[in-house]
Parts: sequence; C-alpha cells; structure tokens
Amino acid sequence: MNIKRDYSIPELPSMTNSSVSVRRYGSILAMLLDASPLKDILDSLVLLIEEEKLGTIGSILLLSDDGQRLLTGAAPNLPDSYNEAIHGIEIGEGVGSCGTAAFRGERVIVEDISSHPYWEPFKALPLAAGLQACWSEPIKNNENRVLGTFAMYYDTEKSPTEMDLVLIREAARLASLAIERSRALQFQRLTANIFNHLPMAMVITNQLGSILDANPTFYQMLNACPDKYHHFEPEIFFKSSGHKLNSMLAQLKLKESWQGELLGCRLDGEHFHLDLTVSVFKDPASDERLYSWLFSDISERKKASEIIDFQANYDSLTHLANRNHLFKAMNAEIESDRLNPGFGFMLMDLDNFKQVNDTLGHDKGDQLLQAVCKRIQACIKESALLARLGGDEFALLLPDMVKECELQLLANEINEAVSVPYILGGDKQVLTSISIGIARFPEDAMSLEQVLNCADQAMYISKDEGRNCFHFFTEQMQQNAEYTAKMHTSLKLALESNAFELYFQPILCLDTHQIVRAEVLLRWQDEGQFIPTDEFIALAESSGLIVDIGHWVRQEAMSFLIELQNIAPDIGLSINVSMYEFWSHSLQDNLVNSIQHIAKELSCDAFPFEMVTIEITESLLMKQHTHLIDSLNKLREMGIKIAVDDFGTGYSSLSYLSHFPIDQIKIDKSFIQDSGISKKQQALVEAITTLSHALELHVIAEGVETKEELQFVKNAGIEAVQGYYFYRPMTKSSLIELLNKR
Ligand code: C2E
Ligand code: CA
Ligand code: CA
Repeated sequence: MNIKRDYSIPELPSMTNSSVSVRRYGSILAMLLDASPLKDILDSLVLLIEEEKLGTIGSILLLSDDGQRLLTGAAPNLPDSYNEAIHGIEIGEGVGSCGTAAFRGERVIVEDISSHPYWEPFKALPLAAGLQACWSEPIKNNENRVLGTFAMYYDTEKSPTEMDLVLIREAARLASLAIERSRALQFQRLTANIFNHLPMAMVITNQLGSILDANPTFYQMLNACPDKYHHFEPEIFFKSSGHKLNSMLAQLKLKESWQGELLGCRLDGEHFHLDLTVSVFKDPASDERLYSWLFSDISERKKASEIIDFQANYDSLTHLANRNHLFKAMNAEIESDRLNPGFGFMLMDLDNFKQVNDTLGHDKGDQLLQAVCKRIQACIKESALLARLGGDEFALLLPDMVKECELQLLANEINEAVSVPYILGGDKQVLTSISIGIARFPEDAMSLEQVLNCADQAMYISKDEGRNCFHFFTEQMQQNAEYTAKMHTSLKLALESNAFELYFQPILCLDTHQIVRAEVLLRWQDEGQFIPTDEFIALAESSGLIVDIGHWVRQEAMSFLIELQNIAPDIGLSINVSMYEFWSHSLQDNLVNSIQHIAKELSCDAFPFEMVTIEITESLLMKQHTHLIDSLNKLREMGIKIAVDDFGTGYSSLSYLSHFPIDQIKIDKSFIQDSGISKKQQALVEAITTLSHALELHVIAEGVETKEELQFVKNAGIEAVQGYYFYRPMTKSSLIELLNKR
C-alpha cells in the first residue's frame, strides 16, 4: 500500500453520522478533483472505512467490462495470496459474498463463512487467511448498473449493526462516484489526446466565427499561429470554392451537416484541396449554435487522380485527347438532345509515317507527330476536339460543323499545312502528308461506330487516290463496302463448291508461230455472270483466300499438264502465283512444299516440272530477301521456270533482274498496245529486250491484238507472244481441240 499524498480533511464540528459522511466525501472528493489515479482513490477509501470501524478489512472488486468477472480494485490489507486467488472470479449465485452480491445487485451478509452455503466451495481460502465474516455491498452507478462490490471482512463471526449497514452503503456510493468520475476523466483525456494528435484539422467555432477550440493540425494546415489566429470565417477561407461555398452555407442553415470537397486558402495565400465535414450542434450550456469543421488536405490525392485521369484520357506524346476521351465526347454529342445540327468528323492518317520512323528513327518520328499535331491545331477552332487514336492516326471532332463547304475548306487547309516541309532536329528536312476521310452525324451515320466506319471508308479512298487529299463519305462507298463483304462470302462459297474454272491462253513462238505454252487463267461465274478476274483476285488477296485459291489452281493445272503429256507433250503451262503467297517465309515454304506434294500425288513417275512456268509480279522483286531467293531457287532446282509478269508496271529498276533467279520476263501489255503511239515506249521495249537477252532471259510480249503490234514486237527482237491477235483465253476442251488439230 502506497498512499503517499496527505489529503487532509477539514476539521468538522461534531461527529454525527452526516458529518462523518461529509468528512469522508471531502477527502475523496479532494482526490477526485486532483484527478488522482483510481487505484489510489479506492485504496484511500478502503483505509478510511477501516479507520472508521476498527477491526474491518475492506476490499473493493471491480466488475470486468464484459460484466462476467470480478477484478481486484483495492484491498490494501488483505493478504496478496487471497487477492490473487479472487482476481478474475466469475460472478454467480452462491459464489461467495461478492460474487453473489455482484450477480444479484443486492447486498449479501455472511456472518459465518465456515458454515454459509455461499462459501462452501471456496471457504478454505478465507479461513486460511483468518477471515470469518464477509459483508458485501454492490457498487452501482446512477443507472443502477453494477460496477463492482465493496466488502468488509472480519476475523470473527459477525453480523452488522444499523450503523454498519449505513457505512457499507456509503462506502459503495463513494466508490461508485470515484469509478465513474475517473472513467469519465480517462475518456476525456483520451478524446483530448485524439483531438491533439488527429492528422486532420479540427476547429470548433461559434456563429460569429470565433475559434473555441482547434487542434495543432489545424494551425499547421493553415500556416497560422495559434496565438494570433482567433477567427475562422468560412466565407474567407473557402472563398475560391465559388458556388460550392454558397451551397454549403445555404445547406448549413437548413441541415446539421455538410460533407464535400472544397478549395481552402492558407494564410500565405496558397490554395489547397480539402475534404470537409461540418457538423452543427447546440452548446448545452449556452444554447448557442456551434460548428465543428473537420478537414484533411487532399491536394496530393487530387494531383494523383489528375495524373491518372490524364493517362486515361490523353495521349502522353502529343497531349491530345486519346481514343477514350474522343469516344466519350462523340457519345456526348450524339446523346445530347439539344436541337443541334450534328457534327463533322475527320479521320486522318499520315501517309508515309512508317518510312520516316524506319529511316530517321523513333525520336524523329515522335517529333514529326508532335509537329503535325501543332499544325493541325493551328487550323482548328477551340470548340473542335483533336485526338490521337494511336500511331499516326488522328481524329477531329467538329461540333456543329456539318456544311460541306466548311468541312472542305478546313480539310484543304489541313492538307496544305501538313504538307509543308518539316525541319526535324537541325537540318533534316522531312516531307509528309495526310489522308483525310470525312463523315457527318447524323447525315451519314447515326451511331459512333457508324461514324467511325464511314470516315474510315472515306479515308481509305483518300489513301487509294494518291494520298494528301480528303474525301467525304458517300453512299457509293457504303455500297462498295457491302459489295466487297458479299463478294468475300461468295468467293469462299465458290471455292468450297468448286465453282472456279481454268481457261488457257496459248503463247506462241514468234519465229514459227507454233504454240509453245499456255497461260492458265482463272475464271469464276457467279450467278451465271463472269466476274472480272482482276477484280475477284484482288478481293481474294485482301481476304487471304488467295492462298487456298492458288492451291486449287495449281492442283488443277498440274493435273491437266499430266493429261497434256499424252496429247501434246511439248506444251507447257504458265501458272500465275499471287505475291501474297510470298508474303511470309512460311507461306513461301508452303508454296514450294505444296507443289511438290501435288506432283507426288499426281504421278508415280517423275513429274514434268520443266513444263511448268510460275509467273510472279515485278513488285515482289523489290524485296531482296534471301529467303525469297532461296524459295525461287528451290522451284528452279525442281525444273520449274520463273517468269516476271507485267514487267514495266512496277519499279522498273533493271538492275535487280541480275540478282534474282528468273528465266523469263513478260513485258506488260500497256507497252505493246501503246507501241503505235509513243516512240519513247518503243525505245524502252527494245532496250528491255536487249538487256534481257544479255542476261539470258527469255522475253514474251503479252496483249498483242493487231498486226502492227505484232510487227513492233518482232522488230524489238522478242521471241514469244500472247494476245487476242492469235487466241483469246479458252476452255480446256477448246485448247485440247486446238492442239489436236495441229
Ligand atoms: P495477267 O497475268 O497479266 O494475265 C493476262 C491477262 O491479259 C488476262 O486477263 C488475259 O485475258 C488478258 N489478255 C490476254 N491477251 C490480251 C489482249 O490481247 N488484250 C487484252 N486487252 N488483254 C489480254 P485475265 O484473265 O482477266 O486475268 C487478269 C489477271 O488476273 C491476270 O493478269 C493475273 O494477274 C490474274 N490472274 C488470272 N488468273 C490467275 C490465277 O490463277 N492466279 C493468280 N494469282 N492470278 C491470276
Ligand atoms: Ca500472268
Ligand atoms: Ca501480265
């Protein structure tokens, strides 16, 4: 027991019952006011009672928070071993004097522990400590809730007098006061602690804006000095929040709270974003309306969310809106029900960006994109939204701009601005241009997808028609697109249903006019109509179906060649192979393997590969890939000849003729058919022929239709010829008939 302080009790007149109580209260109250620890106060109380009634050993037990067990409160004169044994005991009917009193909420008087049934299971413990009687009074608060027990022990059997009962009741009441007050203080200290250490600013003001209380975070956040800052006026502090401030003030007049984000202003003038909760409450003492302002600085969070928002909606290179942002804006335009005229939309694609990137590097590529975007921006009004859709593709949303003349003017301006040369990083001059497709809402399309689709179709027309230009979407484009889609399906069905047919056009030796070969030409009749071969081959190429079609052609042609061997063993076949079948290494390998495979299936003996010519186009030779050379060599090793078709229409660099493993060139019919008109053309054909002969290449002229053209071809020294002058493409049976007649 360690009660060190001396709580002197004022001298009181006479020792009546009430004056005894006053003395007791006085001393305990003094300790309470002094905010002494609860343990000390309870110890003093026990000692006071023991002094009051000699022979008493007092004990205070406290009920645990869960209301189930009794815990040591104060028992300075009970043996430690006894206190320890009792600590934590569960309350209940018949659990000694205190356990029963706490359980029932009633006083329990046990005069003789040794014989009383409540003590039966536990009596060894008090008897060993020399305790014979125990009276226990429950300690209750104002609401009659049990807080613990006050017990008085004696070393002999004993029953209480009237005075004893008054004393024990008063002792319990004093203990109740001490426990409640000390818990309230503890709670107050806790809240003060929280208030002071809260990472949020908290300030309590009255209606005049006077600060009644504020925590340190509040002053820190405002950069204010607690000694000098006495007024917190929302009208000034949240001034920059604009109409949000007014709506908050209005709501606080009607309701008891407001929650939201505002802009605050520190004393040094710096603005910051804050998350605020205001509560209005009445001061119970003065009945005045008070305000509690609780807020945290969310500037960092705001900044982070702005960055996230930027990344989600803008392109990091050009800082233009991205696809996401553009689509949102377009949808908003589409959904807005105001009576607006709609909007114009441009899809734009740089014409040679890949080339710039590949030759000058990505750095310069990025610079070019930034420069292009600046030039476009200079052409447009603020209401327009320019977006980068990725790579070198841009889009322009033009609210309210639907007039053809206005859009035309703008597109022209953009085409011109973009095509002015760029100087990138010093002296490098770079040229680029842009292809534009224009669509209008709602005139051309009624949904986002359709608008994009229409602009896309129009842009592809611009690409097709030489680039650096613009096109409006037209109904015709839509029809063409639908036609293409329909044809893709029909082509697929044609292949599956064996609806293709092979025609053959003889190729003759110019000297002897004898047929030496026939070119295999594919025919397709759809719904009884011949579809132009150029047209459906282009479609098959764009859909990838050309690979399967090519395989079918070779299968049929090679099988016919075996047949021909019996009729005219000296006649070969020339088979066209699309450059798309040389697109990748694996396609090239496929091609070679499939030809070998077909040959194996067709003949047990050696297949007459030397009677096969494969026609490839000139543009294929632009790619000087070693794999392509390997593939062509493999075909030649088998005995197959390679012809370069449509010679002169591509990039007519003659030098590559020497690099590639080829056997023949077929001069394009445009050279032959122009021969009567242009002298230059004649010179060109003669030069090509001379050079080809020097490279030991065989030269064939195609498209010979007239006597004059035939004469021209002869004069040029060309050795083989193909054209309507001799034969048009014919069916298999016609060719057989023709060959049999020879
Ligand atoms: P091409 O390889 O240049 O074929 C020659 C084209 O010229 C054929 O057109 C033929 O009918 C035509 N022609 C022949 N002589 C004359 C003439 O004196 N005057 C005129 N004006 N034209 C003549 P066709 O059959 O319509 O074929 C067009 C193109 O389709 C072919 O051009 C070829 O590139 C492609 N093609 C045809 N069959 C196949 C095939 O089986 N596979 C592949 N990949 N393409 C093929
Ligand atoms: Ca050909
Ligand atoms: Ca040709």
